[in-house]
Amino acid sequence: MMQLFMPLNFLGFVYREIRGALANIERMFDILGKQPQVLDQVGAIEKSPTIGAIKFTDVSFQYDQRIILNSVNFEVPAGKKIAVVGDSGAGKSTIIKLLFRFYDVDHGAITIDGIDVRDFSQQALRRAIAIVPQDTVLFNNSIYENIRYGRPEATEEEVFAAAKLAHLSDFIESLPDKGNTKVGERGLKLSGGEKQRVAIARAVLKGAPILVFDEATSSLDSRSEQAILNALRDAAKGLTSLVVAHRLSTIIDADQIVVLSKGKIVEHGTHSSLLAQQGLYARLWHIQNEKRLSE
Ligand code: ADP
Ligand code: MG
Repeated sequence: MMQLFMPLNFLGFVYREIRGALANIERMFDILGKQPQVLDQVGAIEKSPTIGAIKFTDVSFQYDQRIILNSVNFEVPAGKKIAVVGDSGAGKSTIIKLLFRFYDVDHGAITIDGIDVRDFSQQALRRAIAIVPQDTVLFNNSIYENIRYGRPEATEEEVFAAAKLAHLSDFIESLPDKGNTKVGERGLKLSGGEKQRVAIARAVLKGAPILVFDEATSSLDSRSEQAILNALRDAAKGLTSLVVAHRLSTIIDADQIVVLSKGKIVEHGTHSSLLAQQGLYARLWHIQNEKRLSE
């Protein structure tokens, strides 16, 4: 069993690095990636995109000769919500990594507000994107300080407002020391659903035009799932959002759903148009519904 986990001293290293260096949550990508995969161009644009319209045009990407994404095309107009679904290993998280420019595409282009992501400085690009990761790291600090990592200079009122939008207010009220209660390693242990709502609050606080949500794969009871859903719905209001979902019930309200299979988009449409197509999405939907009913 222990073999499944990273060596503890490495985790300790990562934890200390993150704690020490974390100005915002995305630094984690830099720390966890061994070396920078991409470089700023000479004269890169320092101004972050402010509208947040995303476009993938003919995007292909491979790791070590293995094709991971194959000619992917989709668009997220400003303020809309697009969902990406598909089996494990289909390439969903890779789409997020490419948008964040953790890697560069091999073919095609990704643009935000019509500008290629490679033309921005990495800082400018990453300021425009708030990510709610699959697994949230909480620090041994108060719940408010944990939210504040989204934007360290935020005022107290802004932190409260973000917590409220992420539907954390009632939870915080129930804690012995309210928002000053210590959580994480040596504090209160939060459930998976609560942690992901803290991550949503962080993302809201960042104030970026684009919100990316990578749904946790771990199973949640339906109340926690509903709480996350409500938080996400409120947090994403007015933002361009890209949601990777495992539970299709999460994304019924998406403006567009993209179904990914082995690195290719095999279907796209709204929930109801995809059900009517009776293809892969409809099959996944029926499988998940049968599971729900039998629970
Ligand atoms: P999903 O999020 O849909 O489960 P991913 O985008 O994480 O899928 O991964 C797509 C494919 O790319 C998988 O086959 C995975 O094994 C592979 N992959 C992911 N990250 C790496 C990496 N750093 N090096 C090599 N292969 C990778
Ligand atoms: Mg993934």
